[in-house]
Amino acid sequence: MLRRPALDADVAVIGAGPAGAATALFAARRGHRVVVMDKQAFPRDKPCGEGLMPSGRPPLRELGLDEIVTANGAPPLTGVQFGVAHQPQRAVPFPEHQGDQAGLGIRRLDFDARLAERLSRDPLIEFCQDTEVRDLRRDSGTLSTLATTRGEVRARFVVVADGLRSSLRHRLGWTVGPRPPHRYGIVAHWQIEGPVDPWVRITFDEGLEVYEGPVAGDQRMIGLLCYQDRMPDFSGRLAARYREIVLSLRPELGDAELVGPVAATGPFWYRAKTVAEHGIFLVGDAGGFTDPITGEGIAAGLRQARAFAAALDSSNPERTYRQAHRRLTTNPRRVASLFLRLSRTPALVERGLRSHERAPRMLSKLLGVGFGYWGFNRITPREWVRMFTGR
Ligand SMILES: Cc1cc2nc3c(=O)[nH]c(=O)nc-3n(C[C@H](O)[C@H](O)[C@H](O)COP(=O)(O)OP(=O)(O)OC[C@H]3O[C@@H](n4cnc5c(N)ncnc54)[C@H](O)[C@@H]3O)c2cc1C
Repeated sequence: MLRRPALDADVAVIGAGPAGAATALFAARRGHRVVVMDKQAFPRDKPCGEGLMPSGRPPLRELGLDEIVTANGAPPLTGVQFGVAHQPQRAVPFPEHQGDQAGLGIRRLDFDARLAERLSRDPLIEFCQDTEVRDLRRDSGTLSTLATTRGEVRARFVVVADGLRSSLRHRLGWTVGPRPPHRYGIVAHWQIEGPVDPWVRITFDEGLEVYEGPVAGDQRMIGLLCYQDRMPDFSGRLAARYREIVLSLRPELGDAELVGPVAATGPFWYRAKTVAEHGIFLVGDAGGFTDPITGEGIAAGLRQARAFAAALDSSNPERTYRQAHRRLTTNPRRVASLFLRLSRTPALVERGLRSHERAPRMLSKLLGVGFGYWGFNRITPREWVRMFTGR
């Protein structure tokens, strides 16, 4: 519970999703006093593809959470099977990097609740649920004041981690986007009998993709990603139309049972004019998000959280974080844009998949660029030509 009239902290974090929670935990590990506020109470759900890419496992391990999440039943993810509707899929294993190769299928309801539990147990963190931050003002060179539904909070550094449509980023005047053509996601869970399928599957169809992966409890998260022009199709019959489309593109799921609600979300593609200025930092989706198609939003948020906490030790934390953010996001964003380009042109997807038979490491290398492991120069000119010509 917040004290009145003001609580002073070194770091105030707005939003306790994966990015905000990890920011608080990394900052507390460096000895900073942190207050975290979320407008919701945990456990709370969040529409998501629920695949934690392998690049998110090192920061999760550093926070001591990887073991807890796997012990809780999160299945490993081996790689991605890409395919065009009604044609065989091609398996692209995740690349190995510094000992990590597998991702995790995480149910957001549980995963975010584990992070929240950790916040509540940390002696340097005050975690305020059901607390909405309504405004943010810079008082002096060294302090900001947050107006919350439970009183004021003053802090030296403020981290805005309130997600994709970040209202605080908007108040700061830093929002860019959403950029058309607008894309939307429709997600739900299916109960599947039999052994766990450890692959993420992406099936491309005209102007639409099915994105799916396993989570705990023999469930599979299945999402449709599509452009705005497909959305009227769902009007007034979201669940029924979602089910029809999923089953037409993935008839193998015929015996599976749809469990829980069907949720729609979007549009995507936001950017920020800056991600750090005058003691205010944007972490996670609030700092920009391209599209769910690469499934790296959570891993990106965890890595940015770590970079923010490390930047606090530098003489110019804002500049250090801006540089780290650019390093962490530039190539992954380019890969997401490339995948989006493919999503609009199934013929290109077919060519790319044909090239995979002749150069089977090329797509794994591309996934590695998207995870921020290495640059595009890993991919040879010959491999690029193959990808776009299919020869
Ligand atoms: C359809 C879809 C599929 C996706 N698939 C994947 C995937 O497979 N893998 C992956 O890694 N990523 C995926 N993503 C992206 C991923 O969901 C996000 O990148 C991730 O949730 C970002 O975490 P975050 O902590 O920045 O924001 P969020 O998880 O959105 O958390 C923001 C928090 O801020 C709180 N908040 C908001 N406003 C306020 C306020 N004013 N005051 C206080 N609290 C506030 C909210 O209650 C919320 O808890 C997908 C996204 C979508 C939409």
